[in-house]
This record gives sequence, structure tokens and C-alpha cells, in this order.
Amino acid sequence: MKYDLPTKTGYFGKFGGKFVPEILIPVLEELEEAYEQAWQDEAFQAEFKSLLKEYVGRPTELTFANRLTEYYGKAKIYLKREDLCHTGAHKINNAVGQVLLARCMNKERIIAETGAGQHGVATATACAKFGIKCIVYMGAEDIERQKLNVDRMQLLGAEVRSVESGSKTLKDATNEAIRDWVTNPEDTFYVIGSVVGPHPYPMMVRNFHRVIGMETRDQIHEAEGRNPDYLLACVGGGSNAIGFYHPFIEDKDIKMIGLEASGHGIDSGKTAATLSRGTHGVLHGSLSFLLHNEEGQVQPAHSISAGLDYPGIGPEHAHLFDIKRVQYYPIDDKQALAAVKLLSEKEGIIPALETAHALAYLDTLMPKTSSDEIVIVNCSGRGDKDMGTISKYI
Ligand SMILES: *Cc1c(COP(=O)(O)O)cnc(C)c1O
Repeated sequence: MKYDLPTKTGYFGKFGGKFVPEILIPVLEELEEAYEQAWQDEAFQAEFKSLLKEYVGRPTELTFANRLTEYYGKAKIYLKREDLCHTGAHKINNAVGQVLLARCMNKERIIAETGAGQHGVATATACAKFGIKCIVYMGAEDIERQKLNVDRMQLLGAEVRSVESGSKTLKDATNEAIRDWVTNPEDTFYVIGSVVGPHPYPMMVRNFHRVIGMETRDQIHEAEGRNPDYLLACVGGGSNAIGFYHPFIEDKDIKMIGLEASGHGIDSGKTAATLSRGTHGVLHGSLSFLLHNEEGQVQPAHSISAGLDYPGIGPEHAHLFDIKRVQYYPIDDKQALAAVKLLSEKEGIIPALETAHALAYLDTLMPKTSSDEIVIVNCSGRGDKDMGTISKYI
């Protein structure tokens, strides 16, 4: 069956939609129309492609992990090297796409939310490249914890606004960004950092990241003359994973596995394992799975990796989980740290702590594979940003 989602109204099965204040409905409609038009436009596509090539550094390599393959002694392991993108992770694909769209819409002001600062840095980078004003909302707690990224954003010319409400973290920064957007809809474009938020964001962000999977398909066919058997990716909001999976979704024989962060464990209360532990609910404009406490309040998430530390998940993942097209499993902090060490030693690649969640699943998967199979792991980012945390534990 053809996979053609979301629907016109922004639904992936039961999930997605537009759960926003009335005042934002026309703003989302304007965005949807501008996006559809740009995405069909050859000039937009040409400029986006050229930025991905000359600025982001695409195509990124598909590296055969020979020593890691030898270590497990089973299927061949390849790594899709998003860690080689400019700024060190996949997030820049989407930031460049959305800022380019903002320019097409003649928006003069970009706002973004950020948790650990990675999406803020990617957005500030794209804004510097285009010469557009950039304001990044960030929880006061996160500003404290992620000073280096705050300095980066400021150096890139962005204004970082500290958010003092709630838990002073990502979800509060998101609320504040939405408040700004409601107040300044005419001149402001809101750049969302993952496949979350109201329609059309989950679709739009996915499509800006589809290049990951499209390149992977060409590269594995070039190297092996066929499709892979397994695709592994870590899942926070789910943007690197969906960009990687989407071009393969109709290839029913390919097994897709998403790894979410269980933090101290799925039953510990200190977790970000949204699909393992969450229930249906609305967060930041769309219906999906989310973590909440007994009173129905959104529960702060925990993971050692800041990029997976989000109590929600993109609605398309909720759907792919629902229809069992993708299997999702939890990986805890300790497993992720062990995977950082293993990839560093075996391949000379220090992965981001987020990426390490995908790599950690190899311990479970590899013994079940055979030597004529192919596994590809999406290496979403590099680990330099995590050296402080990594050094503390290893
Ligand atoms: C932000 C981030 C993630 C998590 O975000 P997704 O939207 O789930 O991809 C994963 N890896 C890295 C390196 C990140 O910076």
C-alpha cells in the first residue's frame, strides 16, 4: 500500500493535527501554503540543494564500519555520517530549509526554542548565513547547563532570551516561543527543531531531512548493490530517524528500529522513553504520545543526552509505532555511554550521546543477524559537544 501521509489536515493515522490557539490557525495556513508552493518550485529546490552541498557539506559519507563489524562477527555495519555535517549534526538540514522558506515568505525575524542549544546553534548559523535577525528562547536552567552553546549562538549574532517559567527547560522555552509567535505573526517565522508541533511542521521538517535516507539509498546500492536489512536511529522528537527511514518506508522487508532514551530506566521516573511509558496527549500543538504524571501534568523528561530529553515524540512516529512499521526500544544512560566508548575505540569516531542510543542497540541486534545481512546506523551527530559529560562518567 502506498504510504502518503500526513492527510491534508495533518494527520498521521490518529496522530498529529493542529492544536493551537485560534489566532494561529491563519498563520499556520499561510505557512502551509508557502511551504507547498516553495517545495514544488524548482528555484527553491535548486537553492536548497546547493546550500546542502556547499554549506552543509552534503552528501555525507556512508562509512563501512569494518572493525565494529569484525567485533560483532555478524552482519555488515555501515554508518550514515550526519556527524560530518557543518555544525556537527543533522539539525542544520532543517534549519537551512526553514530559514530559506522564511526568506521566501519575506519574514524579517526568526524565533526558535532550544533545550541543550543544538537547535538554537543550527538556527543561529542559518540566520547568520542569510543575514536574518534571530531570537532563541532557552530555559534559564539550560542556559546555566549549556553555556558553550549560549556563547556560540551569541557569537553567531543571535539574541538568547532566558525563560524563567515552569521547570525553566525546553518545554517552557517552547511555550515562550509560541507566545512570541502569537504576538508577532506578521513578521515572524518560528523555526521548530524536530518533527513535532502543529501541522505542517512535522511534515515539513521530515521533508527537509529526507535527504539523509535518499543519499543512504544511493550509497548502499553503490556499495552493496541492494537495500539494507536494518535501519537504526535514535529518537528524541524524531527528526533524524524519520529523515533516514522515510525514503524506505514502502520497502516492507527493511526492518526499522527507533531507540528512545530510557534515562535511569523506564520505571525510574527519570526517563524520556515516550513510547515505552507515555500515553496519548497533546503537547506543543499536536496529538501524540507524551509522558505525564498522575495528575496529567507533563512530566519533565530525563536522559544523559540533552537532545533526547523531551517528554513528547513526533506524531508520525506515534503512527509508525501504532501500525508497527517501526519497532521502538528503550536504551538507558549506561548503555549509551558504553556505546560511545566502543565506537570511539573501534572506528575512531566519537558519536554524540544521542547517536550512542542507536549504536547501543547493536549489542541486542547483532547476535540475531547473519553475515550476509546489512545494518545501517544513522550517526546523527558527533560527540565533541558531550565531552564534559562523557569524561565525567568514563
Ligand atoms: C537533537 C539531536 C537528536 C535528537 O533529535 P531528533 O529530532 O530525534 O533527531 C539526535 N542526535 C543529535 C546529534 C542531536 O543533536
